[in-house]
Amino acid sequence: AKFVYFFGNGEADGRADMKNLLGGKGANLAEMTSIGLPVPPGFTITTEVCTEFYKNNSAYPAGLNDEVAANLKRVEQLMGRTFGDAVNPLLVSVRSGARASMPGMMDTVLNLGLNDTTVQGIIAQSGDERFAYDAYRRFVQMYSDVVMGMDKEALEHLLEQKKEEKGVHLDTDLTAADWKDLVAKFKARIREVLGQEFPEDPQEQLWGAIGAVFGSWMNQRAITYRKLNNIPADWGTAVNVQSMVFGNMGDDCATGVAFTRDPSTGDNYFYGEYLVNAQGEDVVAGIRTPQPINLHQKKEGDLPAMEEVLPECYQQLAGIRQILEKHYKDMQDIEFTIEKGKLYMLQTRNGKRTACAAIKIAVDMVKEGLIDEKAAILRVQPSQLDQLLHPSLDPKAPKKIIAKGLPASPGAAAGTAVFTADEAELLARNGQKVILVRIETSPEDIHGMHAAQGILTARGGMTSHAAVVARGMGKCCVAGCGDLKVDYASQSFTARHGVVIKKGDLITLDGSTGEVIMGEVATVPPQLTGDFATLMEWVDKYRKLKVRTNADTPNDSKVAREFGAEGIGLCRTEHMFFEADRIMAVREMILAEDLEGREKALAKILPMQKGDFIGIFREMKGLPVTIRLLDPPLHEFLPTEDKDIEALTKTLNVTTQQLKHKVEFLHEFNPMLGHRGCRLGLTYPEIYDMQVQAIMEAACELVKNEGFSIVPEIMIPLIATVSELKELKANAVAVCEEVMASYGVKLEYLIGTMIELPRAALTADEIATEAEFFSFGTNDLTQTTFGLSRDDAGKFLPFYVETNLLPEDPFVTLDQNGVGKLVKMACELGRSTRPEIKLGICGEHGGDPASVIFCHKVGLDYVSCSPFRVPIARLAAAHAVL
Ligand code: ADP
Ligand code: MG
Ligand code: MG
Repeated sequence: AKFVYFFGNGEADGRADMKNLLGGKGANLAEMTSIGLPVPPGFTITTEVCTEFYKNNSAYPAGLNDEVAANLKRVEQLMGRTFGDAVNPLLVSVRSGARASMPGMMDTVLNLGLNDTTVQGIIAQSGDERFAYDAYRRFVQMYSDVVMGMDKEALEHLLEQKKEEKGVHLDTDLTAADWKDLVAKFKARIREVLGQEFPEDPQEQLWGAIGAVFGSWMNQRAITYRKLNNIPADWGTAVNVQSMVFGNMGDDCATGVAFTRDPSTGDNYFYGEYLVNAQGEDVVAGIRTPQPINLHQKKEGDLPAMEEVLPECYQQLAGIRQILEKHYKDMQDIEFTIEKGKLYMLQTRNGKRTACAAIKIAVDMVKEGLIDEKAAILRVQPSQLDQLLHPSLDPKAPKKIIAKGLPASPGAAAGTAVFTADEAELLARNGQKVILVRIETSPEDIHGMHAAQGILTARGGMTSHAAVVARGMGKCCVAGCGDLKVDYASQSFTARHGVVIKKGDLITLDGSTGEVIMGEVATVPPQLTGDFATLMEWVDKYRKLKVRTNADTPNDSKVAREFGAEGIGLCRTEHMFFEADRIMAVREMILAEDLEGREKALAKILPMQKGDFIGIFREMKGLPVTIRLLDPPLHEFLPTEDKDIEALTKTLNVTTQQLKHKVEFLHEFNPMLGHRGCRLGLTYPEIYDMQVQAIMEAACELVKNEGFSIVPEIMIPLIATVSELKELKANAVAVCEEVMASYGVKLEYLIGTMIELPRAALTADEIATEAEFFSFGTNDLTQTTFGLSRDDAGKFLPFYVETNLLPEDPFVTLDQNGVGKLVKMACELGRSTRPEIKLGICGEHGGDPASVIFCHKVGLDYVSCSPFRVPIARLAAAHAVL
């Protein structure tokens, strides 16, 4: 196999579509080179070498050495410099780059090839001793950190000491002699701490750095990032070795990052940040506040834009922006460096963006003729929509703004302020909502960012680590908030007008405006018009699967319909029983001594249930509605507090003692598998009879008086055998016929069942002889198939997922191999005895994109999910087709 791929001077061995082999960075460096963009020459060592490296106990495959040497020679020839040469030395960067971008997760070493000899060559070449020693000391710092495992702080400390000694504040105030002295001091300290010399030999440096990049694939933060983003460990990283260009050789030099469109709004403007006379990560590190690249972005008080300072380079870059978008047909995130007025491209990739921007860019690109509707649909990830479907701050709510930063990632979030990632994780685990406040974030903070509702940083721009990662996570972020003085020692920050927020105080962030607000602010529902509506129109055109919602109230139904729900897949009647004015009647029914007592109580509940159904049917305007009869164990409704028990004794005319005894009697050891669902309907038929009566009366009334067309779907839960269903269906049919006769109307209705027990799935052919539809209750089906209780799984399920015993939480994403197999089997069996049977799913999985795609594949008619997930399911259903 070929281990090394060259790029330089308009020619490249690799291509953009070779990301698996070359990593994203390497593949795109190759592509940019071959379309004629100015890329410093270099070569990429493949991800296969990384995989081999880990397989073979950190040994490289035979032949790698020779290939690296040959490619290095080609770079030397193009550059007219020689690696390790005393007079005209070549310096390189050694950069990691996996298939999927993992911003800041792995390590990069710049200025490699410097030593006490070659630095003289750099001085002679550049005529700038200060620059040369500054580059040298950066190299020693980076290399010792990344490759040798030296503590960064130890060298930073020496640098601080130097500045103090010289009485200066800024790095830029140090002279060539200072840097030279520091290089020597750094090396001495490294020797002292590690008992090891800093390598002088450039070849040793090169191989050290290559090994470190491969090694960084398995560092803790890369592992965490992969886990959060579902990136398999066996993908490996590539290593890019590239000749250095310098953005830090003076005021005609610069380095920057940009997006070809605004990653936050999706607006079609060039958007970026740069720094004059700076190297590498200075822009994203948040140490100096970066400047805008153009006048469009420039706001009052900003430093001059690149468009003003380096107009020719800016124009060239703006041209490259167009070339890249036409070529990649997607928004790009680029890195560039200007050395002495000459522009170089160092990276391009498809840019991360907010959900809102993703939609706008996709819709705009269709209008611009760059992509078609199908491509546009695939550009937006279903899970991303979540961001848009959630509330933003109520514009009318009063708010005390205490600071303003950059609107780095939109949405609104409120929580208590915390100042470390560990604390954020800890509190979030206990169910608290927190806002992570940092001076700036680094990859070490990733777990805390994940746990927080929102992220607030004092330093760093729109492309800082915090901003990029937050946008990727779909999390609200306010970055670069210069109003803040964060003090880690006292766990507090001071905002405008001296307002102090301490750990534990409530704050609210508005990621769309950059505002930081004291306390918790009210929110308003999302806007679903404009580009969002356009995209969803396309989505509906292509998808086959219908999307219904789980809704128990007229209001939920209304929200869901606005989100595009095409019916209700699950209306849980028990939720209607919990309201304060009803629970008494329900308790009365449960605790009644005999049939007569129960019927008396049920008569009180009947009109309320009927009212519920009228409201829901009306709201759904003739769309299908599946109503599930009472499901949970009765004891869930029982009074636990003494005052509630007292109140009941009067209604039921029993003593406290008797009542407590009855409550105790109803206690179950394992209610999930106890007296619930159809088992209640069989032992207390009057309960289901009342519910069916309420459903049918509601429907008949609307049909008769308001001219509605309604086909009620009555669903019987927890069926294990066809005999259960047969009896309950007969009861229900009798009630339906009776009601229709009394109203003098005839309407169609369906009686079906949940498939949520393995036995039901296994005997679905028998069950389908009675059931007119199946709805897969995959929450219970997952519990009963795995034999694990959802309510107790919190203690061990996270461990299973962390240690890869399970690839995912099966309550979040349907276990396709196990539970999914039962679903698939039940579909086939059901259709074998009733070909026209309606099939749907009503578990939480109905709103999980991967599960939706599965449902499409097994041929369900619809999925049903919570109202806020309806658009996500619609989009996933379209992805399933395309
Ligand atoms: P990351 O994947 O973390 O972005 P990169 O490999 O892109 O890491 O390197 C980080 C930064 O280092 C780049 O954005 C660029 O500014 C700088 N850099 C990398 N290689 C070179 C090079 N050959 N010449 C100049 N700067 C470089
Ligand atoms: Mg980069
Ligand atoms: Mg169930």
